[in-house]
Amino acid sequence: MELLKQRIMEEGIVLNNRVLKVDSFLNHQIDPKLFVAMGKEIAERFKDKGIQRIVTIEASGIAVALPVAIEMDVPLVFARKKKSILMTDDVYHSVVYSYTKEENYDVTISKRFLPEGEKVLIIDDFLASGEAAMGLCKLVESAGDTVEGIAIVIEKSFQPGRERLERAGYDVQSLVRIKAFENDRCVFIEE
Ligand code: 5GP
Repeated sequence: MELLKQRIMEEGIVLNNRVLKVDSFLNHQIDPKLFVAMGKEIAERFKDKGIQRIVTIEASGIAVALPVAIEMDVPLVFARKKKSILMTDDVYHSVVYSYTKEENYDVTISKRFLPEGEKVLIIDDFLASGEAAMGLCKLVESAGDTVEGIAIVIEKSFQPGRERLERAGYDVQSLVRIKAFENDRCVFIEE
């Protein structure tokens, strides 16, 4: 997605040759018009999959997933990273290793918001090792639902996430794919 590549080139900051900081438009401050455009693009890519529900993970995934859910006209549910005291009912859960925080955490979704037998689209902001997406897939499948696809905003293709998810049989669609970081700049895979 050209618009997104442009923003990454103009505003993205590469940290330690490993992490891309895009908090001026994606992870902290949010550019609403860009998110609407990204939502339309993701919805278009999965329009023939009969998606019935979108699942993402707090916090950054929510803003990415919302315009997609509006475009597809389906419910959106986000996995929580900490169990809320308001979550008194039964939950589905999965353990995820955080790439940026370097620790394990439990992700949960209330069983009420993940009815059995639905076709689900998983959405996240970044794909690195694939831990977060894999954790969400396991959680969704434990509810008896089918993962119809995984939509990612920024994929770091030099890390093993895509390969891991594709090996497990999932359809992964990323709006931009980064081949490498070179001299603190992103080199993109041209598609
Ligand atoms: P994974 O689970 O695939 O290793 O990493 C994905 C998660 O880690 C995303 O949900 C995202 O929050 C975070 N993440 C991974 N790499 C980056 C990065 O380069 N920049 C930012 N801002 N977050 C990242």
